[in-house]
Amino acid sequence: SIPLGYFGGIGAASRQGILFKGGNYLDAITRINTVVLDKTGTVTKGVFEVQDIIPEEGFSKEELLHAVAIVETQSNHPIAKAIVSSVPKERIPFAQPVNVKEVAGQGLEAELDGKKILAGNMKLLETNGIAYPPEVADIPETTVLCAVDGKYAGYIVVADELKEDAKVAVEELRKAGIKDIVMLSGDKQAIVSKLAGELGIDRAYGDLLPEGKVQRFEELSINPGNKVSFVGDGINDAPVLAMSDVGIAMGGLGSDVAIETADVVIQTDQPVKIPMAIRIGKATRQIVI
Ligand code: ADP
Ligand code: MG
Repeated sequence: SIPLGYFGGIGAASRQGILFKGGNYLDAITRINTVVLDKTGTVTKGVFEVQDIIPEEGFSKEELLHAVAIVETQSNHPIAKAIVSSVPKERIPFAQPVNVKEVAGQGLEAELDGKKILAGNMKLLETNGIAYPPEVADIPETTVLCAVDGKYAGYIVVADELKEDAKVAVEELRKAGIKDIVMLSGDKQAIVSKLAGELGIDRAYGDLLPEGKVQRFEELSINPGNKVSFVGDGINDAPVLAMSDVGIAMGGLGSDVAIETADVVIQTDQPVKIPMAIRIGKATRQIVI
């Protein structure tokens, strides 16, 4: 039987929008010493805005934006939503992309008016053997590169911002005794490093494909003394959530798969609720023991 104290802890947490899926997780969370954070949608708002459109010679801004936007109508990624909503609606339906393929952690491939379009990150272009200006890698913003029929056509800069409580959350995690805080992201290293610096996070790995996240996470979990919690929101975070000692999902805008796989769901999407969940766990343990 579950000790009465755990019901109190689960209730106290749920009043803060923190759903523990069982008393055992309230206990397990007190032993966590490493917290691994996803970037987009977890420490950032996950709501992007188009900042700039930089076409390559031979392409206009409009051609570049429209080609990418039409293809992005076929994706649910937050980057796709930003690009699609930046184009007036009446322009979108003229062409229909066919043979659309979404490549997880990279972007999209499709055919549009008989032309092959790529819209995604540097990895997507590299995989397809398309050269792009190397300085794109150094831009500390998310960039969506485009190629038309095997030719680089330019890029679109999209930006997302940190959640208001992200920095406080990192500070509170340290106060709660978390020795290691790590960020993992499919976004480019330049932006991941910049945000980690702003947040005071020790280690941050970018340019990760979904399987790269799993591999990094396994490295962190391999030491049996490490009790690891992963916090994420995306479909691609589900494998790591499942591998965690305590998997935590952002449940407001998070994907259903992440919410179902997690042990703890933060309904308000606020990262500051992570250290709060740990504190509630610890307070509950004192009552139970
Ligand atoms: P994260 O790990 O930061 O939550 P994802 O794994 O969802 O990010 O995506 C990683 C990267 O893949 C994005 O930063 C982006 O460069 C690229 N990407 C994924 N989907 C798309 C898309 N629909 N359009 C453009 N780029 C995309
Ligand atoms: Mg995410």
